[in-house]
Amino acid sequence: MIIHNLGFPRIGASRELKFALESYWAERTGEDALQSVAAGLRQRNLQWQQKLDYVPVGDFSLYDQVLDMSFTLGNVPERVKNLPGGDTEAYFRVARGRASAGDTHTVHAGEMTKWFDTNYHYIVPEFTAQSRFRLDADRLTGQLKEAARSGVQAKPVIIGPVTYLWLGKSKDGSDRLALLEKLLPVYRELLETLAQNGAGWVQVDEPVLVTELEKPWLDALADAYRYLAGTPVSILLATYFGTLQGNLETLAALPVAGVHVDAVRGRDEVERLVAALPGETVVSLGVIDGRNVWKTDLAALLDWLEPVAGQLKDRLWLAPSCSLLHVPVDLAAEDAMDSEVRSWLAFALQKLEELHTLGTALRSGRNAVAEELARNARSIASRRGSERVRNEAVRARVASLSGQAGDRSQPYEQRSLVQRRMLQLPLFPTTTIGSFPQTAEIRAVRQQYRKGELSLQEYEEAMRANIRHVVARQEELGLDVLVHGEAERNDMVEYFGEQLSGYVFSRSGWVQSYGSRCVKPPILYGDIERPAPMTVKWITYAASLTGKPVKGMLTGPVTMLNWSFVRDDQPREDTCRQLAAAIRDEVLDLEKAGVGIIQIDEAALREGMPLRRPEWAEYLRWAVESFRLAANGVEARTQVHTHMCYSQFNDIIESIAAMDADVITIETSRSDMGLLDVFEHFSYPNEIGPGVYDIHSPNVPDVESMVELLCKAARRIPPQRLWVNPDCGLKTRTWPETVAALENMVEAARRLRTMFAA
Ligand code: GLN
Ligand code: ZN
Repeated sequence: MIIHNLGFPRIGASRELKFALESYWAERTGEDALQSVAAGLRQRNLQWQQKLDYVPVGDFSLYDQVLDMSFTLGNVPERVKNLPGGDTEAYFRVARGRASAGDTHTVHAGEMTKWFDTNYHYIVPEFTAQSRFRLDADRLTGQLKEAARSGVQAKPVIIGPVTYLWLGKSKDGSDRLALLEKLLPVYRELLETLAQNGAGWVQVDEPVLVTELEKPWLDALADAYRYLAGTPVSILLATYFGTLQGNLETLAALPVAGVHVDAVRGRDEVERLVAALPGETVVSLGVIDGRNVWKTDLAALLDWLEPVAGQLKDRLWLAPSCSLLHVPVDLAAEDAMDSEVRSWLAFALQKLEELHTLGTALRSGRNAVAEELARNARSIASRRGSERVRNEAVRARVASLSGQAGDRSQPYEQRSLVQRRMLQLPLFPTTTIGSFPQTAEIRAVRQQYRKGELSLQEYEEAMRANIRHVVARQEELGLDVLVHGEAERNDMVEYFGEQLSGYVFSRSGWVQSYGSRCVKPPILYGDIERPAPMTVKWITYAASLTGKPVKGMLTGPVTMLNWSFVRDDQPREDTCRQLAAAIRDEVLDLEKAGVGIIQIDEAALREGMPLRRPEWAEYLRWAVESFRLAANGVEARTQVHTHMCYSQFNDIIESIAAMDADVITIETSRSDMGLLDVFEHFSYPNEIGPGVYDIHSPNVPDVESMVELLCKAARRIPPQRLWVNPDCGLKTRTWPETVAALENMVEAARRLRTMFAA
């Protein structure tokens, strides 16, 4: 029996790659320095994995594995060809638009989108009917040689041809599947080259198999692997992130030497798959959860695996369910974490240890790893029995919240009249999404406070000073609904998680989001309770400084859930309801404190959507229910806002409407309001603030462009129900940019009022 891995985190346990990249982009260091950090990280990863029978190679990337594949296949956008500089510069131009700070040959960056249902983002391959492919295998052969020098048995990892096409976008409306024929010879050449460089097995990733596939895509899989069947390597065709369902038979019929499946999410399908596969095919089972941070219950897993191993014998391989890219590197760095909770966790290195223990138990019997199994059993039992995990009061409270707890006391038409009377806002009211510039000074204050260099009083006074500043600027600008600016928040999820029981935080549990960007998801381990108000004092302080309404600002339950590592011992739905109950408490406290407008951000609602469409309805049901539970306990006079950082909700607009927020602010400026097309067919019942300018860009938007955008919006949504706001929070902008942009935005609203008053 073989143990292997599908991929390892490449950013480095201390984010070494991030810092090397940023220093290279800033031109503080040269390419040699960058490449040497990269080589060091690869070496490290090989050493860490040397006890595996097969170690993944080619999973390392300077920016993104899909972009790597585009370069390997010679599918490089025209706009970066024939520009000065080498391959590395071309590569970063596609990734980020420019190779470095001083690059004068900027181009538009490749589009970035989410990698299946993870929080990792890849650079979308671009295709046209004219796309041609040409092999450049140097990256892979170079890394194979490194691995050979380290004495490990390497297994190159590549993205399969069908998934590669599926991930990409046609730029001219042509059918990208038609390119398969041109692509396959390059794949064949690649496999041959890998064989010449010593590869026996090659892992070919086709995660597309866990999505809903139409017949042409299923046929393409069959065609592709029939074509590649004669190559001198053994193909391990890998799928992950979910179940195969109706694609199982297609997978089982592919002429490959082995298949890898996600046996965490898809354990129930394993028996059917084994029955469908030819008698000699290798079956790699992804049994360690690569998407979460909990220890595996090894005894329970062995109970299931032992008979499977008895049946499959040498054909059985074991691995994590997917690449370990999606979990942090090493738990050993977390010496400041609560030790009880830490004993329940496994990061990438600990997951590989689990794999070893499993492998040995299956090869030599459980006695051979009796001590490891006993230790594992103690951790599992400790977590299961811990009072820290279960809080009966929370459970009783959540159970007592009836369905009606999510209903407003009056329908929108009625309560909006009450709100209009209370708030006295002009037509086209102006507001912002919540955060104002997070200056170096603010970050320094937060850090000094965390280190104990500032007292609580000093810290709070610094925050109040910032609030005074933010409120004064907004009054000068003439905005209608003000915010306090969110200076106290490091992160919109972490800030709330830190004040809820049931959460712990890692110190260096970083996970790559894209390129050099990493996130450190909080870990939600137990029942969620809000011991005390979280935001009331900041909002009421801001409100005390002005006669204008100040919005309370919260993160919603679905976003808290989707941006955390959450417990795996109960359905996500139950965890989300608990989060909702905690946010509800905060909402009601804000209302009691006299806050008349409360915004609940659901930036990540869309991200949690299942990969398969038939499963959307069920997710949306509980996601919307959770939002309603959090938000809708307020009186008719209280205006609820929500914000979403996107507006691709053509397909979920009914669920968005069912949230029943009084006002929703969304991202639309980059699509020129094109994303508002949905409102032509669906009459959204409440108020909308379609973001009128892109906060991701330092450019100051001019008045005319914003007036024009809102006029477009007013053709689809009655002007009485339109708000004027940027498309997201302003925390990444500087003050001068912010003031200039908002001045123009307020002026745009004034012009619209005159235009529409007539
Ligand atoms: N209120 C948050 C802010 O303004 C919203 C951020 C987000 O949507 N990602 O920063
Ligand atoms: Zn946003």
